[in-house]
Amino acid sequence: MSITAIRGFNDILPGDTELWRHIERCAWSIFRTCGFGEIRLPIVEKTELFMRSIGETTDIVEKEMYTFADRHGDAITLRPEGTAPAVRAYIEHKLYTAPVTKLYYTGPMFRYERPQKGRYRQFYQIGAEVLGDESPRSDAETLSMLMKFFGTLKIQGATLQINSLGDASCRPAYKEKLYNYLKERAGELCENCVRRIETNPLRALDCKAAGCIEATSSAPSLVDSLCEPCAVHFDRVKYFLKLYGIEPLVNPRMVRGLDYYTRTTFEITADNGLGSQNAVAAGGRYDGLVEELGGPATPCFGFAIGMERLAMLLNREQVAAAPLTVFIALGIDAEKKGVELVSAWREAGIRVVEDFSAGGLKSRMKRADRLGADYAVIVGENELNQGVATVKDMKQATQETVAWDRVADLIKGGK
Ligand code: ATP
Ligand code: MG
Repeated sequence: MSITAIRGFNDILPGDTELWRHIERCAWSIFRTCGFGEIRLPIVEKTELFMRSIGETTDIVEKEMYTFADRHGDAITLRPEGTAPAVRAYIEHKLYTAPVTKLYYTGPMFRYERPQKGRYRQFYQIGAEVLGDESPRSDAETLSMLMKFFGTLKIQGATLQINSLGDASCRPAYKEKLYNYLKERAGELCENCVRRIETNPLRALDCKAAGCIEATSSAPSLVDSLCEPCAVHFDRVKYFLKLYGIEPLVNPRMVRGLDYYTRTTFEITADNGLGSQNAVAAGGRYDGLVEELGGPATPCFGFAIGMERLAMLLNREQVAAAPLTVFIALGIDAEKKGVELVSAWREAGIRVVEDFSAGGLKSRMKRADRLGADYAVIVGENELNQGVATVKDMKQATQETVAWDRVADLIKGGK
């Protein structure tokens, strides 16, 4: 029996990577105009980093981390997200000496979840973090950049939901209120949420179990319990979002699955027909995390986009791969000349695959067709003597004879 990939771990094939590259290029070009620099982070980190940042009583840390003992017995974890590693790097390299640091990253994340469409055990994120800015304008500007990114990719119907989780001065009182509310309804909650009532009652608001959704439907609202500075911050975020032409939906139940968030949190959903796998991006403010991990107090805001879910929303036709050309040399002299010609055409930027098969022109044209060629370029004895090539447009079923140095332009659409 042949060996297959592990469930939840996907191969991304050339048709899709074309789309992925388009997304990544688009992110890169938009994010850099907003002052972000790319950071490449390791895929494994010390387990402790995630325990201390994401929180010991979150789903990610309790159930979803790929944690191993390495050969020396040290606990290492395949990163489940990128914010904690980015903050770790920020502290380690003293990036905080700059007044504001804007970082973005792309790469695989790992979570031991139940694999299904839109939810995998290895999935990819594009993430961005603004470290060192406490202004609500920073939240709004970063969100507007994200919305612009979705707009540029022509994603239809992206909805921004926002909430505020308060901070260390107002959240404890809210936790207490929620704790009392949940205590009375413990019978309706899932086992997991019952267990976490004492340690982390907010998790019940994020739980996807039907009973928990029902039981928390009239739970006290976080946005009604904010202290004055948090309430002002939240109002300013909404105000500045308006300036950017963005009308967010306030969702007071949205608590996100990670403990480090403070104040603004958000999620962007788009209809991909996958029910609860419809969130394409999420994030928020995490003003306490840098300090928590041993750095100076630093207000931060960040987000992560799910690549697979985003790619699903893209219109493939709009991201057509560059045309593929198959070169067919007929006869030994054309083959020799072909070495030079093909390399010149590639230099000129067209995608050329040379057909090395034997046989007649007819069967070789069939192979070109099966390769998915958009053009076939043929050089036989006649063409060789005249310094020309026959260029067949496979889709239009037309052909032209042109000089060798005009082939690339013709294929690229220049006349
Ligand atoms: P969800 O609510 O879908 O479980 P999450 O709150 O766990 O998402 P985050 O940790 O905030 O997600 O990650 C940001 C984005 O990464 C999500 O909005 C989603 O697009 C994507 N994502 C998260 N987990 C997965 C996964 N297992 N497979 C594919 N994409 C994922
Ligand atoms: Mg999740």
